[in-house]
Amino acid sequence: MPQEALIRVVHWADGTISIDPGPRGAVPGRGAYICTRPGCVERALKGGLQKMLRFEGPLPAALEEELLERMRREREGNDGEAQGS
Ligand SMILES: [Zn+2]
Repeated sequence: MPQEALIRVVHWADGTISIDPGPRGAVPGRGAYICTRPGCVERALKGGLQKMLRFEGPLPAALEEELLERMRREREGNDGEAQGS
C-alpha cells in the first residue's frame, strides 16, 4: 500500500495562509491536512483548501508552488509509471 505524505496548511489568526513549518499540532490556527497525490493537490488548489480552511480569496502563489513542488517530489520518489486518472 503506498504511503501518502501529508502536508499541513494553516490559516493563521492574522488572516494569512501557509504551510505549517513546525511539528504537528504545535501551531495555533485552523489547519488542514492534504496529501501529496496529484489528484488531492489539484482538488486542494481548486478551492478545496479554501473551503477546509475557511479562507477567502486566492491562494498565495508561493503556497501553490510549494504544494506542486512537493507533489512532484513525491511522484519522483515512487518507482514506476504514474497512473493517470
Ligand atoms: Zn489523498
